[in-house]
Amino acid sequence: MEAPPPLTAGAVTEIWELPNGPATFQPVLQVADLRPVVAKNTTAAAAAAQHSERFRMLLSDGVHSQQSMLGTGLNDLIKDGTLRVGSIVHLTDMTCNTIQKRRIVIVVKLEVLQSECPKIGTPKIYEKSLPEEQEPNLPANPAQTNSGNYSGPGMLGSAVAPRVEQIGNNLSYGRPNNGGPGVDSSICQSVQPGANNVLSGGTYGAMSAHNTMNANVVHPNSHQNQSFAVPGTGGGFGPPGNIYGRPAQPSYQQPPPPHRNSGPVAKNEAASRVIPISALNPYQRTWTIKARVTAKVHVKNFNNARGPGKVFSFDLLDANGGEIRATCFGVAVDQFYDLIEVDKVYLVSRGSLKPANKRFSPLNNDYEINLEPSSSIEVCSGDDSSIPKQQFNFRQISEIANMDKDTTVDLLGVVTSVRPSFTVMLKNGGETQKRVLQLKDMSGCSVEMTFWGNFCDAEGQQLQSLCDSGLNPILALKSGRVGEFNGKTVSTTSSSLLKINPDFPEAERLRQWYITEGKIAACTSLSGEMSSMGRTDVRKKTAQIKDERLGQSEKPDWITVQGAISQIYTDNFCYPACTREVNGKSCNKKVTNNGDGMWLCEKCDQSSETCEYRYLLSCHIQDHTGFTHATSFQEAGQEIIGLSAQDLFRIKHEEQDDVRFAEIIQQVRFQQYLFKLRVKEEVYNDEPRVKCNIVKAERYDPVKESRFFLGAIDSLLAEDTSGSSPGLNGGPAVNAGFANSEAGQSVPASNNSYAVNMGGPNQFGQQFSASIGMPAAPSATPAAGSGFAPNSYGPSAANARAHKPVIANGARAPWNP
Ligand SMILES: [Zn+2]
Repeated sequence: MEAPPPLTAGAVTEIWELPNGPATFQPVLQVADLRPVVAKNTTAAAAAAQHSERFRMLLSDGVHSQQSMLGTGLNDLIKDGTLRVGSIVHLTDMTCNTIQKRRIVIVVKLEVLQSECPKIGTPKIYEKSLPEEQEPNLPANPAQTNSGNYSGPGMLGSAVAPRVEQIGNNLSYGRPNNGGPGVDSSICQSVQPGANNVLSGGTYGAMSAHNTMNANVVHPNSHQNQSFAVPGTGGGFGPPGNIYGRPAQPSYQQPPPPHRNSGPVAKNEAASRVIPISALNPYQRTWTIKARVTAKVHVKNFNNARGPGKVFSFDLLDANGGEIRATCFGVAVDQFYDLIEVDKVYLVSRGSLKPANKRFSPLNNDYEINLEPSSSIEVCSGDDSSIPKQQFNFRQISEIANMDKDTTVDLLGVVTSVRPSFTVMLKNGGETQKRVLQLKDMSGCSVEMTFWGNFCDAEGQQLQSLCDSGLNPILALKSGRVGEFNGKTVSTTSSSLLKINPDFPEAERLRQWYITEGKIAACTSLSGEMSSMGRTDVRKKTAQIKDERLGQSEKPDWITVQGAISQIYTDNFCYPACTREVNGKSCNKKVTNNGDGMWLCEKCDQSSETCEYRYLLSCHIQDHTGFTHATSFQEAGQEIIGLSAQDLFRIKHEEQDDVRFAEIIQQVRFQQYLFKLRVKEEVYNDEPRVKCNIVKAERYDPVKESRFFLGAIDSLLAEDTSGSSPGLNGGPAVNAGFANSEAGQSVPASNNSYAVNMGGPNQFGQQFSASIGMPAAPSATPAAGSGFAPNSYGPSAANARAHKPVIANGARAPWNP
């Protein structure tokens, strides 16, 4: 056997003299003993997947030996036999701790110089009693000290910030020159916390001016658009990789700069004992971590055997990619809740480590920190951009199909549509906001996503504005929860985090994909058609309502019928409605005249001087196959008549202008409309009757209808290619030709029946939902193939807005013959 590398003489003595915290000392030692740490806590053992095993190493310099804990990241070396008793190791990164006056080394990184070697010398345990709280004379925390001198692989010595810093650096995106040689890294690091969404949104808006996200023609080469220079790939930042994942080269692994021990260089609150989160363990009580808050869960009140209590938690991420959840109870909630802000960097010390409850914590750590009133949390002045802003573990939307309910998932997708938010009642009597949107990614799948509570207003509103203005934003979701309701859905939880148009290369790739092909690519929705958002629409003839026994299953059928009003029952076309505001909405219940000029609402149990006439319009819808009875309420009634019910009531009953009234009705008859119908069997006097409610009526527009049918033909061609060919009347899930209903009105859930993809380049997107696995949609248009432009028959986003009829709520001018 070859001669072993020499051990570092006096290394153990020196380790005992080192301050607590990360050490710059890199001795070569021999492993004198190696054994697993037996977890005392059985819950920890239960949670213990293999990677949570910990090993204790006795290290020897040939004269003295020293206890150490091995970072779990190094366990594989033991498993594959590289590291064992006798191995000669080079400690390239370690942290020194003093626990109960004993010295413990946490080995963060080591290099096995020789796996097998006979024992060298007869080392003895080094004995020296240390004061418990040894004050280190570390000049500054390692991340900061290092950041100006980073010269890892691929860095070529330039003064560029480490790769991980790009994560937090929104400013750099789209600025090809940023980070180039000669640029002071301190500039790169000066990221304003909290500015992320605003900045990235702004940047995105600017970029879209150069791109063709919404232009009429998509250039196949537009992905080469130079305004998307990606710092991570273009600027010599080292090998390409998942730069927002775990950094391949944590900055603290780099050789320390020479000035490291030359005395304090900066007054820094991080001076003491900053260790990586990955090195935290229950056996070590004195520690400080420096980490960014990536998520904050709001205070929850609870009751248990000991009475009422409250809890809040937040997630921490450090420069080395380590993440951990911190939890505060009771007094600690009052103490720390206001201090903690997402995206800020803190120094946290003096907490106890408990096994993590994996059911509730999606983080990659087997422990969590319990913070007590005696714990310390300090805000770091200035942001530390070596700490990434967020750690995502993105999964493809297609993978959700095989995920269990309640799985926590990170997603990156294009938001193809956003519904307005609405209020839902909670079981406990409270209420919350809900908002539904569609997320699509390169896996060829889309999923319905639900925002709850605060997410509806903040991020939800921003997403809706972007979608409304024709931009399809990229959404990064951290910690969504998979649900099973009519297929798979994903919803936010209190610990979710959303980033709109994040500046990850992945997001950029997705954006480019969407522009060039994603918009029209085959797409399978994982969410059921009957869910409030993903419901697609089928064209039917009136005869099919009976023939196909529509409305007679458990759920209503939503169909679109093109036809005319052949008959209107004018005797009772409206009813007097209560105008009281209840929970921000008009009551609208029927009121009765007391005879004294007051109107009584039985629901509100109040009388009022005013009422509003609202439509309750009975009519026949006729097409070439027959006719059906239908009832139309306020909004659709106004669409059909072109006047408000109040106005029509005035003409008929106050002015008693029967001629004008007859004219108005006459002009409506045999006009063509697209009717959106809700068909459902209801029981009256023990007799089942299928009722058709007109939830929407839109004047027939031949241009739009033609576009719709071109889209349907395209869809059939696509299905032909993929080997299945349902007939058009067989109801391929084509969207009806309705324009957007998202025009800001708050639609109750039961009416959320319109596909919102209409009118834009997405118009025919959903129709491909039947063609699973289609790489790309062939087109009926002449330009089929690689040069296929999504808008070649569809309206441009701008045109679609111009063409979009204004709907409902009295916004349309009274209809003129
Ligand atoms: Zn009322």
